[in-house]
Amino acid sequence: MHFLQDPRLLRQLAYINGKWVASSNGHDTSVSNPADDSFIGRIPDLQPEQISAAIEQADKAMIGWRAMSADARAVKLMNWHEQILQNREDLALLITLEQGKTLRDARGEIDYGASFIRWFAEEGRRAYGETMPSHIPNAQLSTVREPIGVAALITPWNFPNAMITRKAAAALAVGCTVLVKPASETPFSALALAELADRAGLPAGVFNVITGDPAMISAILCKHETVKAISFTGSTRVGRLLLEQAASTVKKCSMELGGNAPFIALPDMDPDEAAKAAVDAKFQTSGQDCLAANRIFIHRDSYDAFLEAFARRMAQLKTGNGQDPDTDLGPLINQQAVDKAASLVDDAMSKGARLVAGDQFDAPGRHYFMPTLLADITPQMRVFREENFCPVAGVMPYDDLEQVVTLANDTEYGLAAYIYGNDIRQIWGLMQQLEFGMVSVNSVKMTGPPIPFGGIKQSGLGREGSRHGLDEFSQIKYYCLGNLAAGF
Ligand code: NAP
Repeated sequence: MHFLQDPRLLRQLAYINGKWVASSNGHDTSVSNPADDSFIGRIPDLQPEQISAAIEQADKAMIGWRAMSADARAVKLMNWHEQILQNREDLALLITLEQGKTLRDARGEIDYGASFIRWFAEEGRRAYGETMPSHIPNAQLSTVREPIGVAALITPWNFPNAMITRKAAAALAVGCTVLVKPASETPFSALALAELADRAGLPAGVFNVITGDPAMISAILCKHETVKAISFTGSTRVGRLLLEQAASTVKKCSMELGGNAPFIALPDMDPDEAAKAAVDAKFQTSGQDCLAANRIFIHRDSYDAFLEAFARRMAQLKTGNGQDPDTDLGPLINQQAVDKAASLVDDAMSKGARLVAGDQFDAPGRHYFMPTLLADITPQMRVFREENFCPVAGVMPYDDLEQVVTLANDTEYGLAAYIYGNDIRQIWGLMQQLEFGMVSVNSVKMTGPPIPFGGIKQSGLGREGSRHGLDEFSQIKYYCLGNLAAGF
């Protein structure tokens, strides 16, 4: 089916407590390929009592999982990692089929996703506590780090594999069990991960994937006493909603939310090099990336040369089906995303932006949006204020660094920022003043297991990856061992 080398990786049932499960009322939802609307498969609409039962089973599974040594858990995680890499081609194809991104990018996502499992298999062995010099006579003071409990992982469609492994690997390594609620558009990558977790010997109930109505499932996960952590990646809008719901049981919440990344080229930057970097930072995953350069700021002296170079490079990008090896940009996820892209362009042009390039008549299908370059954007435009999440690049000129810092920080978001230039004093000044959780200088690539991924302001709470990733799924317990001198 769909030319998977191993057709058993296309699972059409939820995975709970080591079993493949249909909806108790027989209802399901079909999932289609955004490239051509072709049918991929169906997923069950689980019912509320099935979600509650899954939570209880995950809680029971924690007894054995947390009792294992960190080393034994690491062995299981590395088995899972091996299984994923052995099935890289099929997993990449599943991503391309359900998400639309190119096979090249999908393979990159599988490697990226697997790298978190390897990282946290190791990091779990180093989930250290500490000892403190005592302020109490004859006492020994120390802390241990305990698994927090059952963790609910709610994930988006733009990285259907890696946004799961980045959370799950940390949670599992530290001794939690997890329930994954994948995006409805991209459930098959999550279910394939469950199939491979099963083959890797993860015990029943440790890694679960539940599908169905997002609002119903999330409300149960957020309000259930037994779930102790909510880890969400998605829009700021839904993140706020989940935080409200999770407050009722005071859960630990980590939120990886939207971005509105500025890309700043310093006055000393070669316009063509800046254009090459900006194109790379803008169009990955067809612009449907929380790190995508959303607002491009170019010094007025090189503005026209930059626009010309950007348009020339953008024209070389090929839009098409992600399965075609020549494709650079796949389709957008659905019609709503295409409509939003069109409305962002209309709004900007009605407020004075210039359409430099991008002709939608060239789109190869109904879910495609051709890369578009808008010049002279302003803070009054939606393209400046909102996370675009589409291949529309908005560029504006600036005159001095003070002005560009004010413009770049003029957003509720604070995920990532890009600086390109040569003058180290100017770069350092910007690095300090930009209000973003991640600042990348002269590099489009910034993510990976060793770094603490996450935003400030309304881009989120907490960090994923790095040693800090364990914090989201563990809690510190303090021991005071007193009166130690007595009896000797
Ligand atoms: P989304 O609409 O917020 O959905 C994310 C998840 O929440 C999905 O599983 C979705 O389920 C669920 N959901 C949707 N509506 C819900 C509701 N009313 N109540 C409870 N759950 C609900 O986000 P998305 O469109 O999938 O993903 C794009 C967003 O993710 C962008 O804002 C992007 O910046 C962000 N993102 C952030 C990072 C990061 O690390 N900071 C990384 C990647 C993406 P259904 O799919 O079933 O609706």
